[in-house]
Amino acid sequence: MAGVASLARQALPFFAHGKVVRGFGRGSKDLGIPTANFPDDVVENLPEELTCGVYCGFASVNNGVVYPMCLSIGWNPYYKNTKRTMETHIMHKFEEDFYEQNLKLVITEYIRPMLDFKSLEELISAIDNDIKQSHESLNKELYDQYSSHTFFSGESIIPSS
Ligand code: ADP
Ligand code: MG
Repeated sequence: MAGVASLARQALPFFAHGKVVRGFGRGSKDLGIPTANFPDDVVENLPEELTCGVYCGFASVNNGVVYPMCLSIGWNPYYKNTKRTMETHIMHKFEEDFYEQNLKLVITEYIRPMLDFKSLEELISAIDNDIKQSHESLNKELYDQYSSHTFFSGESIIPSS
């Protein structure tokens, strides 16, 4: 049986776009790691292979600059954890929030499965580590390949891979 990681990688790269919606007010921003949420219809188009876990890739807001991002695919508490969520942390300091704006992303790498943390400190240090690992996975060559991709420069057409 193929492992979770190799199964997930088979579905990559994965492109998605949609309007940023309000999340669950879990206070991500208070921890210094705001996560932009996609609406249900975008999440419903996620392939099955992209199981819950942490991923990385690139993202842009309103066809602006393409930045590295770190994304968690998790379970949606509003649907009693039967539907997934996609929460994107863009590795850039924005001056303002971008709710209702168009978020585009490409997921290029799988980082780790979802884990249970015993304390907030553990969670924060895991996220710091995810961000570090994302930077390592997202090298310049990959960045050049995707930042100049027509998906980011033009219309929001999902490329067929
Ligand atoms: P919510 O529960 O509404 O998702 P968060 O505390 O997770 O609230 O903050 C997410 C919001 O912060 C995003 O929807 C976006 O508008 C804003 N934001 C600002 N900077 C970033 C960033 N670097 N990455 C992701 N979202 C950001
Ligand atoms: Mg959030």
